[in-house]
Amino acid sequence: MHRRILAPGALAAASLMLAIPASAASYSPGAPGIGDPYYPAYGNGGYDVSHYDLRLKYQPATDELEGTATILARTTQDLSRFDLDFLLDVSEVRVNGVRAEFATSGRHELEITPRTPLAKGTAVTVVVRYSGVPSTKSAYGFSTWHRTPDGAVAADEPEAAWWWYPSNDHPLDKATYDVSVAVPNGTQAISNGTLQSTSSQAGWTRYNWRQNRPQATYLTTLAVGKFDVTTSTSEGGVPVVNAYSVDLGDNDGAARASVERTGELVDWLSGWFGPYPFASAGGYVPNTTTGYALETQTRVYYSPRQFANGSNASVVVHELAHQWYGDSVSLKGWKDIWINEGFARYAQWLWSEHEGEGTTRELAAYVYASHPADDPFWTVAPGDPGPDDQFDIAVYDRGALAVQALREAVGDDAFFAILKGWPQEHAYGNASVADFRAYAERISGKPLDTLFDTWLFQPGKPASTGATGGRATLGATAGPVRQPKSWKTIEATNSVHAAEHGH
Ligand SMILES: [Zn+2]
Repeated sequence: MHRRILAPGALAAASLMLAIPASAASYSPGAPGIGDPYYPAYGNGGYDVSHYDLRLKYQPATDELEGTATILARTTQDLSRFDLDFLLDVSEVRVNGVRAEFATSGRHELEITPRTPLAKGTAVTVVVRYSGVPSTKSAYGFSTWHRTPDGAVAADEPEAAWWWYPSNDHPLDKATYDVSVAVPNGTQAISNGTLQSTSSQAGWTRYNWRQNRPQATYLTTLAVGKFDVTTSTSEGGVPVVNAYSVDLGDNDGAARASVERTGELVDWLSGWFGPYPFASAGGYVPNTTTGYALETQTRVYYSPRQFANGSNASVVVHELAHQWYGDSVSLKGWKDIWINEGFARYAQWLWSEHEGEGTTRELAAYVYASHPADDPFWTVAPGDPGPDDQFDIAVYDRGALAVQALREAVGDDAFFAILKGWPQEHAYGNASVADFRAYAERISGKPLDTLFDTWLFQPGKPASTGATGGRATLGATAGPVRQPKSWKTIEATNSVHAAEHGH
């Protein structure tokens, strides 16, 4: 037998190993998805982002985007590696100032391996330098980067970020943003929040936008093009910034006649939902060929086609309602889409009633009556529609019907207390359909499991009476149900989130 003699070097190595926390074995890669069963690869595990600083330069003529993203995050596990979601070409990654290894994997994963593993609960700064032509990139066979004759737009749901900044791309991980974009002089860059400053140098103008409240990645928007920007302040004191492509053609008047009412409608919605949650409001209408609108936080995206039939305050109401229902209070998982769309649609019903174009009850009765029991409409469960039906019309119309059913079950006093209290209860956070039910039960003092199950989860047409607790209710009107005046306008916003990239 040999006596083991430890060389000094081996001793040093042993003590170095001891310097690594005893849980060294627990250092492992963060998951490539945040855990959403609808979109298993969306978002990532192992960290939580608090702030994105995006410093970009975009050339409309060639669609070339280059920039640096600085991401402030905190680890939620011992990490040997972690992912960001991204499609552009990365030239360098640094973690806490030190150059890190990186590789791509999956459909949109950027795998980052820091030189030193990251302990759970520590602050991390990640710098990603990148460039690329976003319109040449696709994932799952689609792109949500929309080029326009004078620029481009990033605004889509549930994915838009991959084409312009690296992120933890899921609404569960919200963060504040500074978006700074340099564009050729004479071109504007529009983003969320407030315009802090602009500066010009050597033919380029830089726009510095700030979102100082938590914002989901898909609600972060960028538009570059030639815009006419208007500013105002609502009667209730909310600063409003709107932007219109100078190339809207015949839709220009109707677009302005709609979106310029943003301040008025924010104030009106505040009466139902409580104080407006953000430091600014507004919308923009780029010269895209898309058809939908999207509730991008504080700066709503409107396709020009939304205004092809004249002004449309209803779609503005829908997207502004999302600022409370969807943006300030974000869903926990994409299955919870009803807490966004059911209420944005219901806000349109409230507006219809306000305008004398049909009451919420008449609209509910019309939805109920116009879909016979064998209509596939009733097979979609708004409370968990599945990824293929996430933006099905039933999520909106049956979803709003469920809101009306709740109202009739708990009475107006409790209902409007719930409607206003919910955005405060979960302000700037995340919540689920189950959280909403629990909240509504607490405020109303009534058990609501049967009501929620019937209207949101059962794959069939609910009975017109009894389903809300014995009261004669939805659809229980005598004679034929007339189509409310507002119906066609509300239906026309149904392309609101139509997944035009087709998945
Ligand atoms: Zn919506």
